[in-house]
Amino acid sequence: MRTASLLLAGTALLATAACGAGSAETADGKPDVVAAFYPLQWLSEQVGGSDVRVTVLTAPGVEPHDLELGAQQVAQLGDAGLTVYIRGVQPAVDDAVEQHAADKAFDAATAVRTLPAGEHQEGGEEHAVSYDPHLWLDPSRLATVVTKLGERLAQTDPEHAKGYRDRAAKTAAALGALDQEFTKGLTTCATRTLVTGHEAFGYLADRYHLKQIGITLDPEAEPSPARIAEVAQLAKAEKVTTIFTESLVSPKVAEVLAKEVGAQTQTLDPLESKPSGDYLSAMRQNLRTLQTALRCTA
Ligand SMILES: [Zn+2]
Repeated sequence: MRTASLLLAGTALLATAACGAGSAETADGKPDVVAAFYPLQWLSEQVGGSDVRVTVLTAPGVEPHDLELGAQQVAQLGDAGLTVYIRGVQPAVDDAVEQHAADKAFDAATAVRTLPAGEHQEGGEEHAVSYDPHLWLDPSRLATVVTKLGERLAQTDPEHAKGYRDRAAKTAAALGALDQEFTKGLTTCATRTLVTGHEAFGYLADRYHLKQIGITLDPEAEPSPARIAEVAQLAKAEKVTTIFTESLVSPKVAEVLAKEVGAQTQTLDPLESKPSGDYLSAMRQNLRTLQTALRCTA
């Protein structure tokens, strides 16, 4: 009895010591992967499979941009084998990575060609990045990200390298198929102008030759009456019949604008939080919404 509890105590001590040393592996030998928010969680789960343990910093239903991290989350990030994030989305995560995980982090923004930031800059001056960080809304860019993430995990945990590379290739293929569906589904549309409450769809617009007019880049900012009037005028000129809004943000601004333009509102998911399905099914729902709103003929 006494020996057993001593042994247990010894094991616990060892586990604690390993953690404190910033070990990439947990007690069961699996690397911990910390994903900053949903699309990166989905990617990490697809690539990591059962070889990693994935945790996410942004809880479902929480708008990720102004996430604040608790001490425990910062420690978790410091101990993880790999943190997957996009610099420019969440200032708190950017800071924590810089201070605690600079050499154990994968920044998806470094994996693809980024687009310049919109004119309505997000975040405070000191955290602002020069590019638009919403790159996950272009499936073709995300396919590039997932391939590079597979390579990074293969380096982090060489013993399971083949599994990471195989699953990354499978996910990249699924994203490639989704990209084809978007290209095909948005070929012929009555309008190609996308009026959105939160300027998150720049990459989607870039990839499929749409034009995004965002009311504001910061989903929680209150736009000025002058900005609303300006967007209303643009929307009327482009014969826009739908103003897009999203579930995590109050639709008030979009509704005011829709009334002014004589349009209706529709939800388009920027996938900043976990959808009811997964990334692929939520993007397919977005495609159907766009096809109806932009009056596309497939
Ligand atoms: Zn955003």
